[in-house]
Amino acid sequence: MTNQPLKHLSDQHILPTYARYPVAFTKGLGCRLWDADGKEYIDFMSGIGVTSIGHAHPAWIQAITTQAHSLAHVSNLFYTEPGAKLAQRLCTISGGMAGVFFSNSGAEANEGLIKTARKYSSDKYGTGRATIITLEGSFHGRTITTLAANGQDKFHHHFHPFTPGFRYVKPGDMQALEAQGDDVCALLIETIQGEGGVMPLDAKYIQAAAKLCKERDWLLLVDEVQTGIGRTGKWFGYQHFDVMPDGISFAKGIAGGLPFGGFIVADKLRETLGPGDHGSTYGGNLICAAAALVVLDILEPLLPQVAANGEYICEKINEMNLPQVAEVRGRGLMLGLKIVGDTPASINVKLLESGLAALTAGTDILRFLPPLIINKKDVDTGLKILHNTLASA
Ligand code: PLP
Repeated sequence: MTNQPLKHLSDQHILPTYARYPVAFTKGLGCRLWDADGKEYIDFMSGIGVTSIGHAHPAWIQAITTQAHSLAHVSNLFYTEPGAKLAQRLCTISGGMAGVFFSNSGAEANEGLIKTARKYSSDKYGTGRATIITLEGSFHGRTITTLAANGQDKFHHHFHPFTPGFRYVKPGDMQALEAQGDDVCALLIETIQGEGGVMPLDAKYIQAAAKLCKERDWLLLVDEVQTGIGRTGKWFGYQHFDVMPDGISFAKGIAGGLPFGGFIVADKLRETLGPGDHGSTYGGNLICAAAALVVLDILEPLLPQVAANGEYICEKINEMNLPQVAEVRGRGLMLGLKIVGDTPASINVKLLESGLAALTAGTDILRFLPPLIINKKDVDTGLKILHNTLASA
């Protein structure tokens, strides 16, 4: 089937919850994608930060097929080797955290962190201390609870009643944080707000907030769903700031395209959730865990290159002096271009027509999340398309 009939069939039968571009992708290899009409694209989106090792990586295919041939799923009532090895690896790369829970998505991972924070606080302090502070502009998911956690009004309509117990403060405003009362159990942040518009938090703010959390025994929870697993040039976004969170969530890039996520906690939360307190049928699925182990192996030596490529892309875009681009921001391969005089969505349509697949974020950001394995040649090809498309607009 070609693009048009595929669009027609999907629009007839899939609920209209996404504003889709009129393209159906059918094939990917490395940092290239092909649509159902056979047109080729450079991938600057990685399926929203998911296909971190590009498409159809041979080692990833091998790991998945080998695991599928031996065992795909047994439930969490039993131990498995890929799950055990992956949890050990995640504790190591997080800088010494103590335990992992596996889920299937980012929102679920954040739900787990929220449950952990409330249980820790109620075990230690009793009731009345369940409020979680999140930041204005944040995004943590689309379940009823994570919608409530999102610090953006647009997510707080239609679906009442939302889960109570969330308050929002301005990023960077330490006074607002210090003014919070004794009903608080945790602060949940993204070190770079992704969906909110690729907004990096200030380093001093992150460090001061971490100190305040320690003083008040609020848990510092970092949502690493978008920033984690190498996206910013370190394994996790918080590792740029010399702070140690009490818990972090991860998903997106972890399994290179398979649905997987989870959260990792520090030693003091190791025993907070016991048998029966939390669970997931699919979480820790053997195929996903085997894929994740290979993703981590592939990414480990590439982290410096992710940071360098990010700096290179920013430099090149700044040199282009494009009238539509007021600012380039972000870190590693999580980059946002602030668009003026046009909309990011309409620019994206033009880029797609020219063979570059990119994303938007917030209201005025064109977002680039290329595969982390991308090389200079593919970066340059993508940037040339950006330049030719915008310079001639
Ligand atoms: N947290 C952050 C920072 C995200 O960027 C996202 C998704 O974009 C989520 C949570 C939700 O993840 P999922 O869509 O896998 O539930």
